[in-house]
Amino acid sequence: MTNEGWVEIREDLRKRVGKDNYVTWIEPLKLSGLTNGVASFAVPTSFFGDWVKRNFAEHILNHMNRAGKEVERVEFATERNAAPQPAATTAAPRKKPIEDKDVPGAPLDSRFTFDSFVVGKPNELAHAAARRMAEGGPVTFNPLFLYGGVGLGKTHLMHAIAHELQTRQPELRVLYLSAEQFMYRFVQALRERQIMDFKELFRSVDVLMVDDVQFIAGKDSTQEEFFHTFNALVDQNKQIVISADCAPGEIKGLEERIKSRLQCGLVVDLHPTDYELRLGILQQKVEFYHTQYRDLKIAPGVLEFLAHRISTNVRVLEGALTRLFAFASLVGREITLDLTQDCLADILRASDRKVTIEEIQRKVSEHYNIRLSDMIGPKRVRTIARPRQIAMYLSKQLTSRSLPDIGRRFGGRDHTTIMHGVRKIEELMTGDSQLSDDLQMLKRLLQG
Ligand code: ADP
Ligand code: MG
Repeated sequence: MTNEGWVEIREDLRKRVGKDNYVTWIEPLKLSGLTNGVASFAVPTSFFGDWVKRNFAEHILNHMNRAGKEVERVEFATERNAAPQPAATTAAPRKKPIEDKDVPGAPLDSRFTFDSFVVGKPNELAHAAARRMAEGGPVTFNPLFLYGGVGLGKTHLMHAIAHELQTRQPELRVLYLSAEQFMYRFVQALRERQIMDFKELFRSVDVLMVDDVQFIAGKDSTQEEFFHTFNALVDQNKQIVISADCAPGEIKGLEERIKSRLQCGLVVDLHPTDYELRLGILQQKVEFYHTQYRDLKIAPGVLEFLAHRISTNVRVLEGALTRLFAFASLVGREITLDLTQDCLADILRASDRKVTIEEIQRKVSEHYNIRLSDMIGPKRVRTIARPRQIAMYLSKQLTSRSLPDIGRRFGGRDHTTIMHGVRKIEELMTGDSQLSDDLQMLKRLLQG
């Protein structure tokens, strides 16, 4: 059988293994011989061969047999060890090295230091763990796993650790990068046949920091490589710091063994900010801005207002403040509450408190004096059915839930029932001023 024959079979494999696997692992294979039931393939590196053997040998075997070839075994050998070829073409061409080995990570943001990190109740544990790690003592927990929602300071803390380590121990090889960059480099190394360089690089650092590790969930070969890197470093007693947007056990699409590995060290979370922390962060930023715009004035209560109203995340909070200062310095006015509300109308609107269906049900049943359980129960008497429809209507109006979703929260009712309820209230509202007053009041109550 010729390599052309193999190419036909290969095409079939694309459907089985998926496009990414196909391009990375199957396409580069060259059939170098088929004798006595053994199909031999030339592979770029022995790592590549091991990988394909472990993950795809079965499929390759099946597909070859299905195509009428009698194959009992498949073998993989690097091109150098494969059937003799003219010397000039045996070795894979050597491309340029991956990059300068001394600075292989992502750049660090010079503003993200421990000094500029405001500590409060929601982040004190994560901060303490990061501090401890940055002191660079013996490795006591490995990995340090930081998790929390968007914009709560994970990246900031990681950069702070890296800065601190670098200051205290300049000889330490600290490598910080995002999981996405890890994957990108891995794929690039495969493509350029430099997987050995890649492995060497990642196994030679003293501290490895991988940000947003949830990114590699579901990316099988990258996960696998990450797992090996991780183990190799832990075995050498090298420190690892990982961040993610949720706890290790909750990352969907991440292999179990990786999850359990990640749980082995110290797992700490950054909680959503509270009012005090937000105010603290704002005050710190204002101090910083004052060094830039000296004669800027802020009216009392403005920072408190922002800390109260913008509770989504710190990034939004910072963005709001930046815009406010830029605007005020342009128009040369003091930052008052009015100016703040004008200038940040869109941000404030987007940060409006989100109302939940449960809250709506509770408030409506309180208002009409019925039991909460009747709200979702089966009773059809008007005194209960009407408030229930009102709650359905408000759920449709004030939340972004779909009708089936709302139905589920009303005791598993069908979405057509919800639609009927919503329409009913819309109809009644126009002629019933008591009802429309009630609705107005309930809305105000719920939206705070
Ligand atoms: P994450 O990586 O968790 O999404 P970041 O670390 O990128 O969040 O933080 C978003 C922004 O908020 C950054 O500019 C960061 O400096 C700032 N920030 C977050 N938490 C704090 C904090 N406790 N003190 C000061 N700045 C903070
Ligand atoms: Mg981040």
